[in-house]
Amino acid sequence: MNIREQVSLKPYNTLGFEVSARYFVYADRLETLHEAIQYAREKALPLLLLGGGSNVVLAQNFAGLAIVLGLKGRKLCSQSDGDICLLSASAGENWHELVTWSLQQHAYGLENLSLIPGNIGAAPIQNIGAYGVELVDVFHELQALHIHTGEIQRFNADDCRFAYRDSVFKGELKDQYIITDVTLKLSQKPNLQLDYGPLRGALEQSGLPITPQSVSTAVCTIRSSKLPDPEKLGNAGSFFKNPLVGEDQAKRLLVENPCMPAYPQPTGGVKLAAGWLVEQAGFKGCSFKGVGVHDQQALVLVNRAGGTGTQLLDLAQQIQSKVADLFEVVLEIEPRIY
Ligand code: FAD
Ligand code: NAP
Repeated sequence: MNIREQVSLKPYNTLGFEVSARYFVYADRLETLHEAIQYAREKALPLLLLGGGSNVVLAQNFAGLAIVLGLKGRKLCSQSDGDICLLSASAGENWHELVTWSLQQHAYGLENLSLIPGNIGAAPIQNIGAYGVELVDVFHELQALHIHTGEIQRFNADDCRFAYRDSVFKGELKDQYIITDVTLKLSQKPNLQLDYGPLRGALEQSGLPITPQSVSTAVCTIRSSKLPDPEKLGNAGSFFKNPLVGEDQAKRLLVENPCMPAYPQPTGGVKLAAGWLVEQAGFKGCSFKGVGVHDQQALVLVNRAGGTGTQLLDLAQQIQSKVADLFEVVLEIEPRIY
């Protein structure tokens, strides 16, 4: 195990914040992961787990051991009954590369989740979702290492308690497990979900036959046209979750704002578009010290140049406060703050 000291975490967070870790290890083998946990336990160090670093705000130097999870490996197994195939991948596999590979193998179900940054190990943490599909829709099971006992345990979908951008690993079991492998249940027969916002229109406009591959291409095209590439402009994707409000409040807000996007949920309540609220509050395209809000998507906070996590959280707080004043809606931050 190669433990390094005082390592910059700038290359390991897509916001590109310049903070350091007191101790650092790149774990590309399970054995290294066990050794790293042991090392942290002996020295009573807190742990910071990182995959692709695309859903974290590193707001200060980290005084413990940062572990970048690089476990690799993937396999696809057809099932004898029906059209199902199981795709298993180790935590450090890049998510979008897996999506592309699964489509090449004629295993379908991930097309709407194309181009989400990060690794598969983090995908269950917030039940990643886009264009009307969530991880839970294709999830079979995962394996995770219990940080305190070192045991590997299996979790099925019920165990994970997936919800909108949420799972048991953000709640009751927060910081207790390291996900090492994830298995997805894909289908050899396409079952396309096109009823989300601009997706069907974009496909029809492209003139391409509607296939899982062309859906993936359309998702990539739409995403690239409105979301900043973290390589060019530091960001962590959507900074706030879409808020869920009661039906009475949604009705009241719609009277005052007839154009407000509002999506009634099957489980009750109405989902509002956080990006729309931030835009109405006047923050779209703004700059504040080294950080700001993207000019094409108000839900994405960006590191313009040499910004810091503290500046970003300060801006987020200003946005939350203005949105609360205007709409009486509480915006909850999506990325994990360290
Ligand atoms: P990290 O940021 O490294 O980690 C996130 C959290 O999970 C941290 O708390 C970390 O400690 C923990 N963690 C990571 N790996 C493990 C593991 N193996 N075991 C236990 N804990 C772990 N998200 C969506 O849901 N939908 C989108 O469409 C989407 N679009 C995005 C677009 C952009 C441009 C960006 C920058 C982000 C976007 N995101 C989106 C957010 C992000 O990409 C996802 O949440 C992704 O799953 C995070 O993966 P990661 O490997 O980068 O996780
Ligand atoms: P968008 O198409 O501009 O839509 C704005 C919001 O309206 C989205 O947040 C979406 O909610 C909601 N919405 C749109 N059509 C809907 C429908 N038919 N039914 C229910 N809700 C609907 O969104 P965008 O910002 O370009 O993002 C496109 C997709 O990628 C979204 O699913 C978004 O969640 C995902 N994305 C996520 C992140 C992240 O970091 N979490 C970053 C970028 C994009 P939902 O968000 O619930 O889908």
